[in-house]
Amino acid sequence: MAAALASSLSLLRTSRLALPYATRCNAFSRLSLGSLAASFAPLRPQRFVRHITASSNEEAAAKAAVDTGGPTIFDKIIAKEIPSDIVYEDDKVLAFRDINPQAPVHILIIPKLRDGLTQLSKAEARHGEILGQLLYASKIVAEKEGIAEGFRVVINNGPDACQSVYHLHLHVIGGRQLKWPPG
Ligand code: 5GP
Repeated sequence: MAAALASSLSLLRTSRLALPYATRCNAFSRLSLGSLAASFAPLRPQRFVRHITASSNEEAAAKAAVDTGGPTIFDKIIAKEIPSDIVYEDDKVLAFRDINPQAPVHILIIPKLRDGLTQLSKAEARHGEILGQLLYASKIVAEKEGIAEGFRVVINNGPDACQSVYHLHLHVIGGRQLKWPPG
């Protein structure tokens, strides 16, 4: 009995550790895989978990996410059509908690008007003001979250950097010791 319980706990622990790596590139697959994992984690053979490698899934998800220039899930968050945990908002930017946090504090900051900024590499000189506002908002958010002494601001740009939502966003991450170099 004790052995069976220990084995179950081990599988659960393995699943929780594996999921952020296995699914972190694609928000939609992340959500669906997350629900599946929650349902089947105790039943899943450990061998299967080990086969979900970070690199293969990140590459697959990066290929799946395409910059169409069209609306994204963030438009629905801006329009408040779907709920989000908003931590800061002004007339230009919106900051809300990431649905799949990679640290105790993980906030996304986005421009309310995308204006072609699907990714940072699309920035033009006219975007200078909003880019500054986004960066400044990251400082405000870090202070509000109590992590101003140590936090990281990340922008994933394009498939090779694992961008999954094509509406420019800053990740503000903190609340634990962060490692360097990042993966
Ligand atoms: P990227 O991988 O493009 O750099 O980051 C996109 C982020 O958006 C991911 O960290 C993902 O967890 C987050 N995300 C995707 N969909 C949603 C959502 O519906 N709500 C929230 N709060 N975050 C989301």
